[in-house]
Amino acid sequence: MKVKKTSVVGILAVQGDFAMHARMLERMGAPWKLVKSAADLAEIDGLIIPGGETTTILKFLAGGMGKELKEFAEQGNPVFGTCAGAILLAKEVLNPSQANLGLIDISIERNAYGRQVDSAIRQGLCPELSDHPVEMVFIRAPIIRRVGDGVKILGKTEELPVLVEQGNILAATFHPELTDNDIVHRYFLKKLDATRGGAKPFQ
Ligand code: GLN
Repeated sequence: MKVKKTSVVGILAVQGDFAMHARMLERMGAPWKLVKSAADLAEIDGLIIPGGETTTILKFLAGGMGKELKEFAEQGNPVFGTCAGAILLAKEVLNPSQANLGLIDISIERNAYGRQVDSAIRQGLCPELSDHPVEMVFIRAPIIRRVGDGVKILGKTEELPVLVEQGNILAATFHPELTDNDIVHRYFLKKLDATRGGAKPFQ
């Protein structure tokens, strides 16, 4: 049996800022692979769904690998969604209601900060990940309006949950790939290594 030594992080490369996630992982020295079809899922240990436009990504998933992606997550493989990715992972999407993968028990409202404030950098806190305030980039970002009982809030800004986790699923309403701070990616890589049954933790 072929045993891979290090986890490979897949990045869904349909639309959106997948290249920035690749840049972050490259800088961290973590192996990554762009995922463009269901066949690619067999070669990765975890998946990042990047920010972009959910309507566009959904069209692709509906016509292609949506079912396989859901199965990949349901098998326990870590999946991390940022912004549009978080919307796709949510159990319920508001403004408007739309199809989703339903993998984390949150209700999330699209474009919830209003039109005039398209983008903003806010300071947030992720006490389990860092002792320092974290700079968070929001771009036409959603707001998590409801968090189910099994969901852990890992990060907050302005009293709102912005980084949440349920089992193998991690979701951020901001874009950690757009700053130099790699704590969220580092956290995700640790989840991958934990899933692989005590393989060497990512340093
Ligand atoms: N507004 C986008 C959507 O609803 C998400 C924006 C983003 O990913 N930066 O799909």
